[in-house]
Amino acid sequence: MKQFEILTKPGIVHGITTRLGGVSTGPYATMNTGIYGNDDWLHITENIKRALDAIGADAPNIVATRQVHSKNIAVLGDFSKLPEMDLKGTALEGRHLYVYEGVDGLMTQRTDVVLMTFYADCVPLVFYDPVQKVVASVHSGWKGTAQGIGAEAIRMMCEVFHSNPKDILAAIGHSAGVCCYEVDDKVIEAFKRQFSLSVLQDFIVPKDYGKYMLDLKAANAALMRMNGIPESNIEVDSGCTICGVEKYHSHRRAAGNDRGSMSAFVQLKK
Ligand SMILES: [Zn+2]
Repeated sequence: MKQFEILTKPGIVHGITTRLGGVSTGPYATMNTGIYGNDDWLHITENIKRALDAIGADAPNIVATRQVHSKNIAVLGDFSKLPEMDLKGTALEGRHLYVYEGVDGLMTQRTDVVLMTFYADCVPLVFYDPVQKVVASVHSGWKGTAQGIGAEAIRMMCEVFHSNPKDILAAIGHSAGVCCYEVDDKVIEAFKRQFSLSVLQDFIVPKDYGKYMLDLKAANAALMRMNGIPESNIEVDSGCTICGVEKYHSHRRAAGNDRGSMSAFVQLKK
């Protein structure tokens, strides 16, 4: 479980799972929290329970994204009408697990809900404004980053909850690292629409044969700074999910085979 120093505050609990500390087996071993995959449901729910207990997330409700690589972020008001997963007979019995379709980020001021988002190479972004008391959890893969979903989160926090970007604390979690994340022209073209060339060259390293190494974490940090979050409010995990075989699940490494998913969990505390 990864926890960030910058988010270790009285008003929030948070954590991003790795593949360690769970009960799943095979390609899902051991900590798999992917609720849409083929792993044993009893194992998945036990893993989620362990993660929630480890970080002290005690809310009766969990709202999980069903991600589509968009820049859609939902503000959670009344979520009680969302589709709900069956937790009877599982380690999570007594709680509610809701699914929010078609979004890649969740934002809320509520203290009765844990935000849950999913990762296996894409970049987890967690935002917390301790002044306006609002949290956001965002899934930012290359498509989300090229569309500026991190910037969208900051814009929404300011517009909906009157946050000042200078107050926002931001964490960037383990994900595909620049050591391993090779991309082609199509990806770079999409980034050119979001970033100026002078910013781009800070996180793209050209290779031979029209390939590039892309530092997705640095791109997201750049988006945060461009939108007013001070450098000192941003904490980045250096872990690479692709070469960190023992510690992380990776979509690219799994190459189409079954794999586990990692999750970011965030809850505001009363
Ligand atoms: Zn790597």
